[in-house]
Amino acid sequence: MAVAQKLQCAVERIVDHGEHVYTLVLRPDRPAPRFRAGQFLHLALDPYDPTGFWPESRVFSIASSPDDRSAVRVTYAVHGQFTARMESEIREGGRVWIKMPYGDFVIDSPGDVVLFAGGTGISAFTAYLEALSPPASDRSYVLGYGARTAELLIYKDVVDRSAARVPALDVTWFVETGAIPSSRIGDPTRWLPGRVSVAALWTQIRRPRESDFYISGPPAMLAAVAADLRARQVAPEAIHIDAWE
Ligand SMILES: Cc1cc2nc3c(=O)[nH]c(=O)nc-3n(C[C@H](O)[C@H](O)[C@H](O)COP(=O)(O)OP(=O)(O)OC[C@H]3O[C@@H](n4cnc5c(N)ncnc54)[C@H](O)[C@@H]3O)c2cc1C
Repeated sequence: MAVAQKLQCAVERIVDHGEHVYTLVLRPDRPAPRFRAGQFLHLALDPYDPTGFWPESRVFSIASSPDDRSAVRVTYAVHGQFTARMESEIREGGRVWIKMPYGDFVIDSPGDVVLFAGGTGISAFTAYLEALSPPASDRSYVLGYGARTAELLIYKDVVDRSAARVPALDVTWFVETGAIPSSRIGDPTRWLPGRVSVAALWTQIRRPRESDFYISGPPAMLAAVAADLRARQVAPEAIHIDAWE
């Protein structure tokens, strides 16, 4: 595991997805340390003085690929004071500090994999999905990806590319409110109203007893999905949670 490093970054690009959800493309002053898909970084807005303490920061999943360490991407939603500061203070061309890598939410299961992603929680899976290749065996991958609106399925293109490359990846989309634009839809039977649910995915999971389950998203979703999996007798060690609090 790489030793965490502190890096100053230029903010190269800010993508405003609407509804106070943003993606930041950060260009560190030197290449980022090696990291694994699913790990996270700390982001600080105030300048870091190497002789002093690390400033206040929050953690964000690294959404970009470990193969490109010249740019680092994170996606965040405004929830409280710190992310509100991020929204108002971060500007393209500005500077932020990050320290990385951290965390062990790394998908290393040799068997079937089931992913539950809610909102910006998909960013813990994007690097994994981008690197996914067709399995040699009859391994299967199931993804349930939900957001408040269809427009907030912001990594739909990454998921679509991955599913096109890997037929063993089965995707179900969940949208809480609003219409689903026809240009986004694909197979209409794979779009469901409401929140990400275990019940809706259960029939897609070929071998539930031999699968590993990974959940990433807001705290309420993590709790609901994990409780439902336990109620279906999924072993606790097969349930992996990216605890966001
Ligand atoms: C391992 C890990 C990875 C994370 N990755 C991401 C990421 O990729 N993108 C992202 O946007 N956030 C991510 N988070 C959450 C992020 O670090 C902040 O906790 C969150 O954005 C709230 O920060 P805040 O300072 O604005 O709110 P705070 O001022 O700290 O809290 C304000 C309120 O927000 C609530 N809150 C805290 N976290 C969340 C949350 N995740 N969802 C809903 N309500 C919350 C708190 O209960 C509190 O009431 C991650 C957290 C962890 C631990």
